[in-house]
Amino acid sequence: MPTTTLFILGASGDLTSRLLLPSLAALMSKHPKRKVILRGAGSEDWDATTWRAAVTEAFTDAPEALAHVTLSDYRQADVTDAGAVASLVESLEPSTVLYFALPPAVTAAAIDAMAGLTLPAGTVLAMEKPFGEDEASARALNEKLLALVPEQQVFRVDHFLGRSTLLNLLGVRLANRIWEPVWSAEHIQAVLIRFDESVALEGRARYYDKAGAMIDMIQSHLLQVLALLAMDPPATLDERDLRDAKAAVLRATHVFGDDVNESTRRAQYTAGRVGDRDLPAYRDEDGVDAARQTETLAEVVFEVASDRWAGVPFVLRSGKALPKKCSEVVVTFKPVRHLPPGLSGVPADGGRLTFSLGPDEMSLRLHVTGGDDPFALREENLLADLGEGQQRSYEEVLDELLDGDVALSVRADEAEECWRIIQPVRDAWASDAVPIEEYAAGSPGPAAWATSQA
Ligand code: NDP
Repeated sequence: MPTTTLFILGASGDLTSRLLLPSLAALMSKHPKRKVILRGAGSEDWDATTWRAAVTEAFTDAPEALAHVTLSDYRQADVTDAGAVASLVESLEPSTVLYFALPPAVTAAAIDAMAGLTLPAGTVLAMEKPFGEDEASARALNEKLLALVPEQQVFRVDHFLGRSTLLNLLGVRLANRIWEPVWSAEHIQAVLIRFDESVALEGRARYYDKAGAMIDMIQSHLLQVLALLAMDPPATLDERDLRDAKAAVLRATHVFGDDVNESTRRAQYTAGRVGDRDLPAYRDEDGVDAARQTETLAEVVFEVASDRWAGVPFVLRSGKALPKKCSEVVVTFKPVRHLPPGLSGVPADGGRLTFSLGPDEMSLRLHVTGGDDPFALREENLLADLGEGQQRSYEEVLDELLDGDVALSVRADEAEECWRIIQPVRDAWASDAVPIEEYAAGSPGPAAWATSQA
């Protein structure tokens, strides 16, 4: 297995210490044959001993993995400074993975500072979310990146859906004749993609208060899940076929009915209790600017305007401080066309397929008889355990990055489309056309929302 150099910009930051380095440790302990040279740059004035101590601490859970990592230099550098960036680029070995673990504005400035430089062959640029701040800035960033390296060497991290979960979803859908023929507006009534979190702000106001639930989850992650569910079956799972199929869906996606008033809702949590934790109101959390009216719960209904999907609502919902974590995809089928009279308890749907993510489980809710009254319909769930699955962890991200596999990274056009899709919602929310509602922390969300009852 070849040795790869991983060079982290922002090596003294939160993402690096909390997620990247511990995930690298876990990965290396599972794949001891892999060899990595680790380099870092950051704003802190660290010497070699401090850098080693920071990495060793992050490897606490898998100290043996340190043996497979060659700890190279840490350099203090302002990565927005053209001179510092030029010297950093000069020091790169071919095929280095350059990970921008930096605040988005700093990443954008670092890419500007690289303009005109020649990166060694095979350099991979790993970009964190949010990628840009709207369609125009994402496009401008893409143009700058693509002037430096080809698209196959840009890895826009989407850390939400792991490879195993993605394959679980695709496997069930594509390998069974009972699904593929009914996977369309002809038979499907609605699709819900939900990511409810019980955690609240957790000190991340600096980022979250500007992003809010829609950009944090719907724009960055849940639209990717929508694209996977709604895409035409790709001929292969290689990056080109998979990303072409997803991009085609995203190009066809828009707010349902182009009606932001009917199809979007936003809310913010007030003080409450989640489990055994008392939470202050969001607006009273440290670092929050109450005047921003940032939503901590968002729901947007989209339509994929294509022959396969026109008319089917895809409801995407995500929020914080909810009673429990719930990460699922629910596909509800249309009622059957005719049910013989005499059966009682006529159902409102024709069955429901639910994927719960991480650990992955599939449940199929069927209408059956066979209770005390042989003519009465009732519901029964068929459950299948699909394995651990993964809400994409940084271990998986690093595994793919070090393998040079970009299939699950977000392609340039997809990143731009996801901003284009949500822009009308941002405009409507910014102008208060859709009022912000409230829900108590620990409650399922505003009572009037159908998704709060489900
Ligand atoms: P931080 O605010 O912790 O910044 C990362 C590092 O970049 C810090 O060490 C910071 O140093 C350094 N830095 C800032 N400016 C410069 C500069 N000009 N030159 C060199 N270094 C600089 O951010 P995070 O680590 O939280 O996030 C990084 C990225 O990862 C963001 O895009 C974020 O959205 C994304 N992300 C973060 C997650 C998390 O849990 N933290 C989760 C998922 C994604 P200093 O502090 O001294 O300014």
